[in-house]
Amino acid sequence: MNLKVCSLFSGSSGNSTYIGTEKTHILVDAGVSMKSIVTGLKQFDVDGRDLKGILVTHEHSDHISSVGAISRKFNVPIYANEQTWQAMESRLGRIDAGNRRVFYNDMDFYIQDINVQPYQIPHDAADPVCFSFYYKNKKISITTDLGHTNNKIIKNVMDSDLVILEANHDEEMLKAGPYPSYLKKRILGRKGHLSNEDTGRALLEMIKGKVTHVLLAHLSKENNYPQLAYQTVVDILKSNGVRAGKDIQIDLTYRDRASNFYHIG
Ligand SMILES: [Zn+2]
Ligand SMILES: [Zn+2]
Repeated sequence: MNLKVCSLFSGSSGNSTYIGTEKTHILVDAGVSMKSIVTGLKQFDVDGRDLKGILVTHEHSDHISSVGAISRKFNVPIYANEQTWQAMESRLGRIDAGNRRVFYNDMDFYIQDINVQPYQIPHDAADPVCFSFYYKNKKISITTDLGHTNNKIIKNVMDSDLVILEANHDEEMLKAGPYPSYLKKRILGRKGHLSNEDTGRALLEMIKGKVTHVLLAHLSKENNYPQLAYQTVVDILKSNGVRAGKDIQIDLTYRDRASNFYHIG
């Protein structure tokens, strides 16, 4: 009886994460094509019709582009807070009234046997959240699309068994790269995205709790390399006496394919 998790797709080009138990299957965000997500789910024998919900973190298109299509095709409820609904609703297409579900930040709720806890994160969207998931005594957290961390986020995440944590960009690559300056400013800002170094430092705090697994996520295609993200985080941990692979397992997620599949239990 495990809590299961797999990053189906992760990156600035589109995001979707699978969370499941024996009988419940849900998605967090659906920001790549429906076909890609359905194919991704098939790898571990989950059908679109098995989905019990799509949770939406925020309305940026790399998180919602196929939310409406999946909901219509497989009759899946969509869960978001009210401000996110207002910001995204016109872009989803027609949604069955029964599939329009509203949650409130800091108020946990159940989707079948999975307990879901949403809380606000600093990002330039209407009311962005990240989620923690509880099943029996296990916990998984997804923390991407945030400009900085704070005590509340660290505290919420640190007793997770596994965390999917953003490592969006290398600051030097971003500064020297081709993005226009307004976009660089946005990404580097307090409501932008975590850099590899931010991630390493956040992780140092998080692992004072229970975290034994971290998946580096939402890597920028233009401003990062998987190996660079990994090494930067490993080096920060190492210089603080934390050994990757021993004290904590660090894995990657991918823009175009699924990560490892984890059974936490
Ligand atoms: Zn994003
Ligand atoms: Zn975003």
